[in-house]
Amino acid sequence: MLKVTDLSVSYGHVEALRGVSIQVEQGQIVSIIGANGAGKSTLLRTISGLVKPLNGRVEFLGEPLPKKPNKIVAKGIVHVPEGRKTFSGLTIRDNLLVGGYLFKGKELEKDLQDQYKLFPILEERKNQYAGTLSGGEQQMLAVARGLMSRPKILLLDEPSMGLAPIIVNQIYDLIRQIRDSGITVLLVEQNARKALGICDYAYVLENGKINLSGAGDELLRSDAVRKAYLGG
Ligand code: ATP
Repeated sequence: MLKVTDLSVSYGHVEALRGVSIQVEQGQIVSIIGANGAGKSTLLRTISGLVKPLNGRVEFLGEPLPKKPNKIVAKGIVHVPEGRKTFSGLTIRDNLLVGGYLFKGKELEKDLQDQYKLFPILEERKNQYAGTLSGGEQQMLAVARGLMSRPKILLLDEPSMGLAPIIVNQIYDLIRQIRDSGITVLLVEQNARKALGICDYAYVLENGKINLSGAGDELLRSDAVRKAYLGG
């Protein structure tokens, strides 16, 4: 469904990605794990058109990516950024409506109700400002806002960041439900244990390069991954 080939990205002199190739099959959860600064966010930002690569290509459903980020969203690639980035001065409902900007009328209302079904807490708080939500609730809002754009593939950047383990488990249950509803997921995480536990396939990104890849359970058992990412 998504094919990234030999992608290189630099910010001035900093080489963030160096010849990265990955593939995501429809209906899967694919994880990218790696330390701080490995290039994980840059990979997602390049796929969603926010960063232009020096080299390499991204194909989605057999076609090259459109140039403009809004066209990329319309094709079904939706990015939920690191740090949630919800609009704190807007209500929860209005945050969701921003995500649904491509749709109107009954379609939009149905999508809103679908999100309230999946995230009941957002319905309870729908008229509250997003800035008053807890970290976990803001993460749910960020994901729900992404779903309002009707993704075929959802790019999730560190959804567990800064959250208590019990909340992380809730978010991961939701990610599974999203996959089960037919949406493909590309998940970027520093939390290797969770990301490898949920995925069908995973890549390890180190200093801008893919060093290792395999099924999630296979990487969970790998000595190299255990030493570097799972605390031995
Ligand atoms: P983190 O989990 O800390 O966000 P990451 O794996 O997502 O890390 P990136 O954010 O993609 O990594 O960063 C990769 C490299 O590119 C790092 O060395 C980072 O300092 C650098 N970098 C990222 N964004 C920029 C930018 N806008 N300008 C200059 N350098 C950048």
